[in-house]
Amino acid sequence: MTRLELGIPAIRRDPTRPPPTVGRPNVAGLIDSHGRVARDLRISVTEKCSLRCTYCMPEEGLPAIAHDDLLTPAEIGRLVGIAVRDLGVRDIRFTGGEPLMRADLAEIIARSASVAEGASLSMTTNAIGLDHRVQSLVDAGLTRINVSLDTIDRTHFASLTRRDRLPAVFAGIRAAHAAGLTPIKINAVLMHETLDGAPDLLEWSIANGCRLRFIEQMPLDADATWVREQMVAAAELLDVLGSRFTLTNAHREDPAAPAEEWLVDGGPATVGIIAAVTRSFCGDCDRTRITAEGTVRSCLFGDDETDLRMLLRNGSGDEVIADWWRAAMWGKQADHGIERADFVRPLRSMGAIGG
Ligand code: SAM
Ligand code: SF4
Repeated sequence: MTRLELGIPAIRRDPTRPPPTVGRPNVAGLIDSHGRVARDLRISVTEKCSLRCTYCMPEEGLPAIAHDDLLTPAEIGRLVGIAVRDLGVRDIRFTGGEPLMRADLAEIIARSASVAEGASLSMTTNAIGLDHRVQSLVDAGLTRINVSLDTIDRTHFASLTRRDRLPAVFAGIRAAHAAGLTPIKINAVLMHETLDGAPDLLEWSIANGCRLRFIEQMPLDADATWVREQMVAAAELLDVLGSRFTLTNAHREDPAAPAEEWLVDGGPATVGIIAAVTRSFCGDCDRTRITAEGTVRSCLFGDDETDLRMLLRNGSGDEVIADWWRAAMWGKQADHGIERADFVRPLRSMGAIGG
């Protein structure tokens, strides 16, 4: 396998140099040259995971990040403080890899919560092991979670994630409910293996008080097997769900929200569909990302990265870090370009970026 297929970070622009800011107006927020403003921060805290979803990780897992190369809870807290206080970030979400693989996750959340007044602190997780830890995470300041669950069929789950852990996911979701992390959002990636089970997953989600959103598979699998022609498109899912439910298009409340909402059997239950590939929402994107090694990555599909960990560790002040972050955002690319003939996959896979 090549480095690229393994999702090993490889970087084009020198991330230790400040990004260019030609033409950028002198404003505090994270604006880009295409007129978008980022207020939603995704922070990856690890490359490790308890599952091996075929659309994300290679069977053997991602190459390990050396312990010293990972951001510490104090460093993450400092970046969150800069993001909220100086850059206008309003939503912070911890992701990975699997955030629960970090033993110090509660400390990461607590340090972030102490400097993130007015912002939401959430986590995207596969929920494995959450039942034992959810209360400590809520006590630390976690306010919401998204759980990734593609199927409620144990055999399909085991084959898609390469691990027979569905009961552990259910236990995690139950515990999150009991700890008051409601409403829980469920994310499901559209795959052929699980498409027929989509109505069951929707029925289960509604019955269990969860909000389900499906997302088209993006070319971010570490195994690099994604092929446009074989991808399940949102339109196909609507047909399958339509065989059991009556779906009516509901108004999108938030223009930056990527999910298109559908009322299920007249409501109030809804289902979201994120047609990330066939109906790109890049024009409304309001995200900025920090990788587990502390680089800013403005776009899932853009390999341009800026090394904030170096600044955190070389004595730079918060204002310098904020300026580099602003500059990184200014250069954000317009869109993912998946539908273009000259599309090139990014060097990092989803698990190595933080979805
Ligand atoms: N381990 C956590 C989890 O699974 O929720 C957090 C990290 S995971 C990379 C974040 C999200 O990315 C999950 O909802 C997952 O389903 C999604 N994801 C991973 N690979 C994807 C792909 N190729 N296309 C679309 N979504 C993907
Ligand atoms: Fe792990 Fe999440 Fe990737 Fe699945 S999608 S392999 S749970 S990081």
